[in-house]
Amino acid sequence: EKRDSKHFIQQAIDADLASGRFSGVFTRFPPEPNGYLHIGHAKSICLNFGLAKEYDGKCNLRFDDTNPTKEETEYVDSIMEDIRWLGFEWDSLHYASDYFEQLYEWAEKLIVEGDAYVCDLTAEETREYRGTLTAPGKNSPYRDRTAKENLDLFRRMRAGEFQDGSRSLRAKIDMASPNINMRDPVMYRILRATHHRTGDKWCIYPTYDWTHGQSDSLEQITFSICTLEFENHRPLYDWYCQKLGIHHPRQIEFAKLKLSTLLIGKRHMLRMVKEGFVKGWDDPRMPTLCGYRRRGYTPESIRNFCADAGIAKFNSTIDIVRLENAVREHLNAVAPRRMAVLDPVKLTITNWPEGKVEMTDAVNNPGDPSEGKRKVAFSGSLLIEREDFREEAPRKFFRLKKGGAVRLRAGYIVDCHDVVKDKEGNVIEILCTYDPDSRSGSDTSGRKVKGTIHWVSAEHAVEVDVRLYDRLFTVENPGDPEEGKTFVDYLNPESLKVVTGYVESELGKAKLGDRVQFERLGYFVVDPDSTEDRIVFNRIVSLRDTWGK
Ligand code: ATP
Ligand code: MG
Ligand code: MG
Repeated sequence: EKRDSKHFIQQAIDADLASGRFSGVFTRFPPEPNGYLHIGHAKSICLNFGLAKEYDGKCNLRFDDTNPTKEETEYVDSIMEDIRWLGFEWDSLHYASDYFEQLYEWAEKLIVEGDAYVCDLTAEETREYRGTLTAPGKNSPYRDRTAKENLDLFRRMRAGEFQDGSRSLRAKIDMASPNINMRDPVMYRILRATHHRTGDKWCIYPTYDWTHGQSDSLEQITFSICTLEFENHRPLYDWYCQKLGIHHPRQIEFAKLKLSTLLIGKRHMLRMVKEGFVKGWDDPRMPTLCGYRRRGYTPESIRNFCADAGIAKFNSTIDIVRLENAVREHLNAVAPRRMAVLDPVKLTITNWPEGKVEMTDAVNNPGDPSEGKRKVAFSGSLLIEREDFREEAPRKFFRLKKGGAVRLRAGYIVDCHDVVKDKEGNVIEILCTYDPDSRSGSDTSGRKVKGTIHWVSAEHAVEVDVRLYDRLFTVENPGDPEEGKTFVDYLNPESLKVVTGYVESELGKAKLGDRVQFERLGYFVVDPDSTEDRIVFNRIVSLRDTWGK
């Protein structure tokens, strides 16, 4: 996971360590527990935990739980599970809500020092007074209240004397600042809502900006890494730390990960789940980490992808093929090969001795001889892939055709001499002879055939369900629909096809989470929906990108 040269965050860290501004690297991953983690979060996790590891520092997990209306314990649990699955462990676990009392005390300090005031403008009035990018804001009529009056009102806000939304606490900075975030930002709002951890203890809640930097400071974080949309919040982050005179971490921003064909905004994902476009947060088509886990992605492949995607200062979109290739590359190295037929047609060997079964040796991983071999039953009654046979075929078709020959992987060369058809003229059985001298591994036939296909023995094969997953959306950017359309218009109707598969008997023993390559078809994983009687396989990814460019 090493890169040739250091990215701008590593360079910033090196400079701060060299100058003595900080003596170590202490980062945090700060999710809001209002949804499941997605592939974008993986990027932030790899970056924060990765830097801590690289610099022999620390990384905390902190739930940024300041918004009681959208947060749930279910999300807290799933986030911890997903981080651990990715392969990281936090140094300590925190909740921003643990700092509510300290934040409250600091707010009183700012009030006493004349740096914050209670404002009676409604939310809408506050927005109007704030001005725009091109027009400065106007001072609130409540801006010049005395410290004594502000303190009294703020304490009564906490005590629950005022209605939701009727007052706020605001930092007194500069309504004419070119940076809108500095125009007397709100620090507290009145909100009666039950918090997932503090219950009904509070009826005032701190804003993100008033919480984040101070939480970083309390935990002695040195590098507070966040995404680009917070660049304009950095002056406020710094202002609060300076006014309070507390340990002052350095905020550094990087570009969010954006991948083509994915919709990773929480709002959109929630809609996909709620409206039944997918079967849940862990549907194998979802861009959530639990979705990728169920789909069969390995944590290594996601970490490799994040490292390979790099850290950028400007937003851009990464081709989804790079993520798909990351899992292909990893599974190509580690997934054992097995044979499975997903669209079967019968192949009968007419010169095979009646009732004979031969156990042939099949290589588990051609890239790794130490993986050894397995036994596969070969008989006179096989199933092959319908697509691998043509009655009439062009010269360049190197699979099986009438009058042609093909090698059966880990078996024999067979020659097709006839077919059996049903009333409609569909081929229902392929009749072949086999060449007894052509057994794989001890071939003395001297024949060269161009094609090799996979097969299973009809009576030995195990029937399974196979879920053929594909991309959920058919366009590059489903989040940016044409006029009059929504992402729903871009759903891929073929994102899931369920078929009955016939797999070699070895796979009858497959356990939950086992990943294999079905030769020539793709990589597959055993899904949790499997039962004692019937295994369910998910297609993780095909062997090659079939979407093209
Ligand atoms: P979303 O709404 O897409 O879930 P968010 O930023 O609201 O994103 P948070 O829970 O606040 O979600 O994010 C936790 C951390 O993960 C933050 O530091 C955030 O910047 C980072 N993060 C979120 N999305 C991405 C992304 N696409 N790429 C990189 N980092 C991200
Ligand atoms: Mg999030
Ligand atoms: Mg957020």
